[in-house]
Amino acid sequence: MARFKTLDDLGDVRGKRALVRVDLNVPMADLKVTDDTRLRATIPTVAELADKGAIVLLLAHFGRPKVPSPEFSLSLVTKAYEEVLGRPVRYVDWEVAEENVAMLQPGDVAILENTRFFGGEEKNDPEVARRFASLGDFYVNDAFSAAHRAHASTEAIAHLLPAYAGRAMEAELNALQKALGDPERPVAAVVGGAKVSTKLEVLRHLVAKVDHLIIGGGMANTFLSARGVSVGKSLCEHELAGTANEILEAADRANCTVHLPYDVVVAKEFAPNPPSLRTCNVHEVAPDEMILDVGPAAVEALADAIKTCRTLVWNGPLGAFETPPFDRATVQLAQTAAALTQAGQLVSVAGGGDTVAALNHAGVASDFTFVSTAGGAFLEWMEGKELPGVKALEG
Ligand code: ADP
Ligand code: MG
Repeated sequence: MARFKTLDDLGDVRGKRALVRVDLNVPMADLKVTDDTRLRATIPTVAELADKGAIVLLLAHFGRPKVPSPEFSLSLVTKAYEEVLGRPVRYVDWEVAEENVAMLQPGDVAILENTRFFGGEEKNDPEVARRFASLGDFYVNDAFSAAHRAHASTEAIAHLLPAYAGRAMEAELNALQKALGDPERPVAAVVGGAKVSTKLEVLRHLVAKVDHLIIGGGMANTFLSARGVSVGKSLCEHELAGTANEILEAADRANCTVHLPYDVVVAKEFAPNPPSLRTCNVHEVAPDEMILDVGPAAVEALADAIKTCRTLVWNGPLGAFETPPFDRATVQLAQTAAALTQAGQLVSVAGGGDTVAALNHAGVASDFTFVSTAGGAFLEWMEGKELPGVKALEG
């Protein structure tokens, strides 16, 4: 990864207008923000720039509007943002943007209206990027979660103004670089979740990069089945047997050790603590049973494997963790990784919507080196793709 400029590279910003791309795409119910994680993530950058006397103009998308409409207005988020930031925040409509921005003072913070109210935003239209750029003196991208999209506010604009990574973006890129860019070896990857089909590119990329590939979740069933194991009525993509075997062969050639569970937790019905619950060897799954978690003996072996590693990347739970007791393997391995991290033996980086939920459930999210909440962008990074919004910063 090439170098990118950070806020440390900015000179005196007093009175200068900073266009800061952030992620304000928060979930709402009854016009109230239900999770302000994304709002809080912007604070270090926004507070730093405002404290240094910049005029901070926030650029963000909100929902998927087809045409500009009130339910997709960022004015709905302004109040919640002001509370999170702890300072006054203005809302600026596109119609009057030039006049409103001209009245702002050093240290002021304003949210510009939804970038997607311009049809050209998602087309990376240079005209739209010029419209945004005309309001600012420099550009800061602090929205890693939007960096996998080449949009006017994430890509084209970075070529029109001096461009910098914000603090959250910087932290994310540094963590990802430590985990897969230039990691300390040995490196282990945990890939779990429901389906192989959604993570094929991730698996293909990782076998060439890591020393240990730990496969869990529903996708382990596809690999087990491809190797001739009967998985009963488990979630399994039988049609991907050929692909699974190709990945196993590629791992072999790359000297990557693949770990598949040799004991599993099964049940006949998918329900909390079902009466049919039992643990068995993978070769003993009955035709009417489903594999819903990795077994305790396998988890112990996986813990031993990551104890030999210096770096761990994790995407996807090992079992159907939302339903007890199928959270056990995920919780146990996450706690092991967290303890190793806290002991200074392991760099641990995790991401993915359900993975973050699982780590929170295990109570260890804050004990990992870095947990990415970026979803799509995190997965594309795990696939080894170059993210347009990041590449534009390296320009
Ligand atoms: P992420 O959002 O972190 O990328 P995924 O969306 O790929 O993760 O996968 C998470 C889902 O996989 C969870 O809802 C979990 O219940 C499911 N899952 C994990 N293991 C199994 C399994 N053995 N059978 C069925 N579903 C599973
Ligand atoms: Mg998911």
